[in-house]
Amino acid sequence: MCGLCLPHCPTYRQTEDEGDSPRGRIALMLGLDQGRVEADNERLAYHLDRCLGCRACEAMCPSHVPFMALMDQARANVNREQGMKRYGIPANQLLDMVAAPGKLRLVSIVAGPLGFLLRHIPVRGSWSRARDLIPKPIHHSFQTQDAISKDRPIYLFTGCMGELADRETLRAAERLLSAMGYFVQRSKSAVCCGAMHRHAGQPGEADTMLEKNLVAFDEYPGAPILSVATGCAAELNGYPDSFVSRHSEILSYLSSNEWTEALQFSAMDEKVAIHLPCTQRNVLKDATSTRSLMDRIPGIQLVDLPLSDGCCGAGGLNLLNQFELGESLFEHSLEWLKKEQPRYLVSANIGCSLHMQAVIEQSGLDCEVVHPLTLLARQLKSP
Ligand code: SF4
Ligand code: SF4
Repeated sequence: MCGLCLPHCPTYRQTEDEGDSPRGRIALMLGLDQGRVEADNERLAYHLDRCLGCRACEAMCPSHVPFMALMDQARANVNREQGMKRYGIPANQLLDMVAAPGKLRLVSIVAGPLGFLLRHIPVRGSWSRARDLIPKPIHHSFQTQDAISKDRPIYLFTGCMGELADRETLRAAERLLSAMGYFVQRSKSAVCCGAMHRHAGQPGEADTMLEKNLVAFDEYPGAPILSVATGCAAELNGYPDSFVSRHSEILSYLSSNEWTEALQFSAMDEKVAIHLPCTQRNVLKDATSTRSLMDRIPGIQLVDLPLSDGCCGAGGLNLLNQFELGESLFEHSLEWLKKEQPRYLVSANIGCSLHMQAVIEQSGLDCEVVHPLTLLARQLKSP
């Protein structure tokens, strides 16, 4: 194995331990597959679980080793022997909740008052991260225009976390799409994309969600389906062709479609840092859409957030169960933010946004983390 991926792996760059590198993890997975390493080996689980799922290794591997698929399979094998307890309570609760739409709806109803209470109770560690997932009050409420016609239906794939932790982005997406003349729809029967379960070694649960989503967008056959989080988009692109042919990540869809002249944006004299999530860079291979959309706001000063190890540290369930590793991966970026003092940090991944906002707030820095669509919708001039 050539080792070309090693310098691109955030966990290897942090620890310089071969077990925390893609090559080391592949060797462990091979050992597991060939029976040389037992599935109940705690060291094996330790190194596999520290992988952020950033897929930087996959993106640059000259042999096209399907690293993430191997990792998903290996974690499923480890889970059969070691169970899910090692992920910790908040992470397991989150997986249970997003797998049950009824529970998720209930939590999203009580989340507002609960969040208000919890923000005033001192909690530490992974529980403070769990609290960060609870939605904060929406800063802006967007007035959605009536669709010009129902001839242009378009679906928003809201994902499990959308209504729970990212309502402002969903409202912003509706505002922009309706201003472009689309008849914006949400499917009541769509469920979580399944990415969290698949990467936590629960392929059965992930496939059940996939099956539900395949028939959830039938009311308007052929209507485009837009996902608003790059993590969901990466998973949805692995669905069967009938779905993939209708699906796009919303930023790439908007940046490659002609905008109507009606869409004008108010000027903004602010510095805005751009964060490119691993899923957007390494899986969707889209390094330009966020910047090209943000550039439509007159006066905006765009700067790129540097990520010294290539990942902000929120990958997978790390947001909840390895927040210390996540914080250290974001350290260099935080220092840069303190120096540059941007007013906003834009990111198209809700997990990354929650992680970065939590670390930024802890540091006392005044920088709001928002989805690029939110800034666009806030600056959109009424027709
Ligand atoms: S995963 Fe690819 S880049 Fe990394 S060591 Fe193996 S062959 Fe080389
Ligand atoms: S997915 Fe990311 S963290 Fe995991 S081995 Fe590959 S480069 Fe390292």
